[in-house]
Amino acid sequence: MKSATKFIHAGVHPDPSTGAIMTPIFQTSTFVQDGPGKHKGYEYARTQNPTRTQLQNALAASENGEYGISFGSGLAATDTLLKLFKPGDEIISTNDLYGGTYRLMRKVWETYGLKFKFIDMSNADNISKHVTPATKMIWVETPTNPLIRIIDIKACAAIAKKAGALLAVDNTFASPYLQNPLDLGADMVMHSATKYIGGHSDVVHGCIITSNKEIADQLYFLQNACGAVPGPQDCFLLLRGLKTLHVRMQRHCENGEQIAHFLRQHSKVAKVHWCGFEDHPNYAIAKTQMRGFGGMISFELKDNTVAAAEKVLSSTKLFACAESLGGVESLIGHPASMTHASIPREERIANGLVDSLIRLSVGIEDAEDLIEDLKQALG
Ligand SMILES: *Cc1c(COP(=O)(O)O)cnc(C)c1O
Repeated sequence: MKSATKFIHAGVHPDPSTGAIMTPIFQTSTFVQDGPGKHKGYEYARTQNPTRTQLQNALAASENGEYGISFGSGLAATDTLLKLFKPGDEIISTNDLYGGTYRLMRKVWETYGLKFKFIDMSNADNISKHVTPATKMIWVETPTNPLIRIIDIKACAAIAKKAGALLAVDNTFASPYLQNPLDLGADMVMHSATKYIGGHSDVVHGCIITSNKEIADQLYFLQNACGAVPGPQDCFLLLRGLKTLHVRMQRHCENGEQIAHFLRQHSKVAKVHWCGFEDHPNYAIAKTQMRGFGGMISFELKDNTVAAAEKVLSSTKLFACAESLGGVESLIGHPASMTHASIPREERIANGLVDSLIRLSVGIEDAEDLIEDLKQALG
């Protein structure tokens, strides 16, 4: 099945009791049984819910995986995934990481005995030297936030396999339309479906997708045992979002390309980070592992100060100043004072995250209007 057909049809079926073409919102906490243990596959809504089941099947299909496991947020998904490991186990993670994932690993899971190494993975050869017999997982996020670096998933899969470790990929920035890590050798894919999959900035949700039955069984066990499950109304919104993912992503990519090129020739812009430029250091990898370059862009100003960046952020009219990404509307953010404010300035700058860096989540409005807005804000 090709991708557009897959996002609309795969994993979902009309409701068998009514014929409703859209999966109903099963707003119920329990299910009546004919007698003890004689039920229709549903007992209690933390354990299973029919709206959630259809969403999990649709999400699994979107990543060409066998099993989908849904959670109340992206971080709840990652938190549950980390419960697959035991004290003393080592996880090698990328250093250019979503801030909330870094906080979960360092401030929560390290206190329970998991060990983390945060390393530069933009050259995959750098990973092998950090592998030890205790290494149990490699955690990759690509493209990275906010510098849009690209990590070679296939190369990471080979290193993980050799080490007897699992490979998990946070695929939030690319979405299942642009990149399918399981096809490239990953064992698990994680999404903050809050972003592109939901697509309308109206729901918080996370999921893990795998084709490994043993891992899936453990994750279903943990989903029920720990209970960070999504509500049925949220599952409905995600099912609706997934049906238009491909058309939204096509427009995000088209608009992203136009805006990246506009910014690059602007006299006040020093540098643009977008993985579709042929001189991007990881362009060749992006081109082979992604179907398009997406709508996430960041750029630096020639006047490399917080004040100059703040002036741009407070001058845009269409680009709304807000955290998050992946919705139909365009957003603008200043990582140094918003998403990455907790990182000390020296460390932030050493990592390439300069004072004037501005991040755009390019929406699906008319590109001409978006460019006009940036033009007046930069002026
Ligand atoms: C937002 C985000 C998360 C966390 O997801 P929530 O749904 O906010 O819990 C994880 N990874 C990336 C790349 C994100 O952008």
